Formats: sequence, C-alpha cells, structure tokens
Amino acid sequence: MSEETAYDLAIIGGGVNGCGIARDAAGRGASVILFEQRDLASGTSSASTKLIHGGLRYLEHYEFRLVREALLEREVLWRMAPHIIWPLRFVLPQTPGMRPGWMIRLGLFLYDHLGGRELLPGTRSLNLADDDAGAPLKSAFRRAFEYSDCWVEDARLVVLNARDAAERGADIRTRTKVTSAARSPKGWRITYEGPGGRRGTVLAKTLVNAAGPWVNDVLTGVAHARAPATVRLVQGSHIVVRRLFAHERAYIFQNRDGRIVFAIPYERDFTLIGTTDRDYFGDPAKVEASEEEIAYLCAAASEYFREPVRREDIVWTYSGVRPLYDDGASKAQEATRDYVLALDAPPGSPALLSIFGGKITTYRRLAEAALDKLADHLPAARRPAWTATAPLPGGDFPHDGFEALVAATRREHPYLAPTHAARLVRAYGTRVSRLLDGARSAADLGRVLGADLTEREVSYLKEQEWALEADDILWRRSKLGLRFSPAQRAALDDYLRRPTSVAAPSAA
Ligand SMILES: Cc1cc2nc3c(=O)[nH]c(=O)nc-3n(C[C@H](O)[C@H](O)[C@H](O)COP(=O)(O)OP(=O)(O)OC[C@H]3O[C@@H](n4cnc5c(N)ncnc54)[C@H](O)[C@@H]3O)c2cc1C
Repeated sequence: MSEETAYDLAIIGGGVNGCGIARDAAGRGASVILFEQRDLASGTSSASTKLIHGGLRYLEHYEFRLVREALLEREVLWRMAPHIIWPLRFVLPQTPGMRPGWMIRLGLFLYDHLGGRELLPGTRSLNLADDDAGAPLKSAFRRAFEYSDCWVEDARLVVLNARDAAERGADIRTRTKVTSAARSPKGWRITYEGPGGRRGTVLAKTLVNAAGPWVNDVLTGVAHARAPATVRLVQGSHIVVRRLFAHERAYIFQNRDGRIVFAIPYERDFTLIGTTDRDYFGDPAKVEASEEEIAYLCAAASEYFREPVRREDIVWTYSGVRPLYDDGASKAQEATRDYVLALDAPPGSPALLSIFGGKITTYRRLAEAALDKLADHLPAARRPAWTATAPLPGGDFPHDGFEALVAATRREHPYLAPTHAARLVRAYGTRVSRLLDGARSAADLGRVLGADLTEREVSYLKEQEWALEADDILWRRSKLGLRFSPAQRAALDDYLRRPTSVAAPSAA
C-alpha cells in the first residue's frame, strides 16, 4: 500500500459502531479503510449483556427517544441476522418494596406500544405457582410479568458487519493501531502500526473516531484535536455459571439499590448473570470483574433463586467498559445510554466525527446518523440509507427459519451431531454451506481441536473472519472457550501459528 493511497473515509475502531459505519459507507459507494488495534470486537462490543433491547429501565430516566429507536431496531435487526439474533422472553418477578405493580405495568404498556412491534409477542402476567418460570425461584415470588426483547451474539454481529463491509470493498485492518492522524491539504494523513510493528501511512478525506472507551485518547493523543465532549467510562461485569434452570426464558431481577440484574440462558449449558455499573478510571484494555462485583452479582441472583449462586459455581467472568457520553449524571447507572455524534469540520479542513455512547442495539441507526452528519464532507453519504433491509452475511433466510436451516444442514451433512449442526447454523447461517462445502464425512472436516471445533472451521475463520489467535476463536467468533481445557487452548494457539492449515473451505 503506497503512502498516497487515498480513501474517502477512514475509521478508527473495529467495534460495533466502527464496523457498522464501515459497512453502511462501503455500501453507499465510499472507499473505506477501518483500523482496529487488536481483534475485531475485542473492546466493549464483546463484553455486553448481548441484548437487543429497548431498555425498560431507561424509561425511568425519560429516555423516550432512545427507547423508541431501540425498540424499533429489535425486529429490523432480527430480520437482518436471524442466525445471531433471536427473540427472548423476560420474566420480571414482582417484588414487594420495589417498583409498584402499576409502574411496571405502565412501563411495559409503553414498551409494547412505543416501538412498532409486529413479530414479537406482547407482555403477559404470570402466576409463578403454576408456571415453569416459578420453579427455580423462592416461593415468596408469586406473580411476574413476561415481555419480549431479543438476544444477539455481540462479537459475531461486529465480525459480520466487517465481513459485509469487506465484501463491499472496505479495507479492514486488524491488529493495526492508528498512532497519528494529522490534517493536511490532501485530507487526513493517517499513520498506523500494523502486525510485526510495520508502519504505514494513508490519506483519507474524512475520519471517524469510533474508538469506544478510547475515544478521548484518540481525539487528544492521535488527532491532537479539541475534545468536544467527554466520555464517562462505566464498568460492567458478568458471571457465567452452570445452567440454573431448565426453561429458555430469561429473568430480570430488581435489586435493592434500584438496579436490575439479568439471569439469561447461555450457550446451552450455562446461565449468564449481569451486570454491574461503576465508574472506571483504569486502562480499558485491562478491565476485569472485581471480587466486589462478583459478590454483588452472586448476592443479587441469590435473592431470587431457591439455590444460592456461590463464588465456586462460576465458570467464567468477563468485564467491559461502557464509553458513555458524560451528561453529568451523579450515578454511573443513571448516565445516558444515548449517543452523541460530535463533528469537527473547520472550513477548508477535513472532517472528524467522534462517537460518544451508544448501544449495540442502536449501532445501525448510529451508522446512518453518522453518515447524515458527514453528508457535506463525504459525497457517498448522500446516497440513500440501505442497511435496514439488507441481510448480514449468512442472514438471508426467514426470521423464523433457524430450525429448518439446521434440518436442511443435517440432511446434507448427516455425519454432524445435532448440537454441532445447530452451533454452526447459529454462527454462520446460510454460509454454513460454504464452510462445509464438499465434505462427505466428519473426516473431511479435519482434526477436532477441542469440543466440536474442526480444522475446517478454523480455516474458515482465518480466511473469512480475520481470526489469528486462539482467543479470537474461543471467545469472540464463538464461545467455545467455555468448553476448552487450558491444554486444548494452548494447542490451538500452536496450531494457528503454523503457516498453513489443512481442510480449507471454499473461498467466498
Ligand atoms: C457491561 C455492558 C453491558 C452492555 N450491554 C448491552 C446490551 O445488552 N445491549 C446493548 O445494546 N448494548 C449494551 N452495552 C453497550 C455496548 O456494548 C457498547 O455501547 C458498544 O459495544 C460500544 O461499541 P463501540 O464500537 O463504540 O466500542 P468498542 O467495541 O470498544 O470498539 C472500539 C474499538 O476501537 C479500538 N481502538 C481504540 N483506539 C484505537 C486506535 N488508536 N487504533 C485502532 N483501533 C483503536 C479498540 O481496540 C476497540 O476495539 C453494554 C456495555 C457494557 C460494558
């Protein structure tokens, strides 16, 4: 790549917002380059609670614009990617001394009616004494409400946006850190350091700073620009335990401190419990669940479940940092979850757009809003918005067609175990046929490297999804890390370092 290679748009940050903007802009015909300093989704976008939700709690803070936009997005995103996004019912037990029943009923009424619901079922009341949802709970909980939101495989959403952007011409550079961005008469002159310390420079007419928790660092340390707003870093942690209940619904529990905690069926054999909200002042790359947060989550869930959740039941924890727009709220949990797009475009100088806040749920709308903001600086941005009806890679099947796709995959590949076929279809949707192309038996997929991960799948992930290291595969492209032993993980790392892999899938 020569120094003079010029792009219409350069994006710093391979999280959901950066990749969403890259996809949208590339689809409108812009030439795009995206830089991610580590792996795609290695920042906040793999550490969320993984809900496509309006955010019932935000109604308490009168965030009607955000809640309505987010509610509307649920079905849009579900239809775009029914492999990685699916509906989930939430059970909200009524708790004496917490929010009164009328308030919850009003909130759920708004939730049902604000957001153009066509496919998702509405709210209903439950008698916990005669519903499966009551079985794992303490008997003091007698009544509950049940409502709809959606689940998303957050890190896969990021990768699929990057994949689609690349297929529309975007240049996706992972493990490439932008070290400086300077305005020049030809546009932004962007210097980066890639794998092996290789340095390079490109030019771009416009620059988007989608660095999430690093947004202020990029503004001041990389672009040497004035920070138009500040980011409030708010840590949130989750714990994963062995499956706590048999049914497929999630719980939303109210806590004494006014917060809420979810307990969600996770990866077939586990339950995900989270999250916390506390201001964070450290390095976002080093965030970890603290003992205090772990104790808080165990205690919060144990208030509701018959069987207490204990420290020793935990099989995994993860933590992330919300890059919230600092609206001056006193408590971390009250800081707005809405996004703010700050445009810095002095006359005659190339434009810089910085992103503060946002949710996984609103990433697609945020990308549209970002391109609207850039319309005077990026001619392609004036072309019509298109992403609302365009499936993500592998998502070109009906929103309720998951079971049928698993059945078709098993007919074509009868050697796959039912759970293996289901996992592959969840991950790759219709692209499972590319991954399995030509395979007639399990042996054609190569060696099994742990759980049901085969050499064939690893090759696909390297070639199509920018996977380089074991953790990219075990914790972001999949959650097979929950099923791998430390020795298997080390062997996978060794395997990935080898220059060639066998059993390659057919290329796109
Ligand atoms: C605990 C928790 C729970 C959440 N739950 C939900 C939920 O259920 N639903 C929901 O909708 N939202 C949820 N969110 C919010 C959501 O996860 C975030 O808003 C979203 O992931 C932010 O994405 P991003 O792209 O802005 O940032 P990130 O994902 O952090 O991406 C920014 C990227 O920029 C890269 N970068 C930084 N500096 C440079 C540089 N100089 N050069 C190159 N790359 C650089 C970083 O490595 C990083 O990967 C949650 C967040 C947290 C923390």
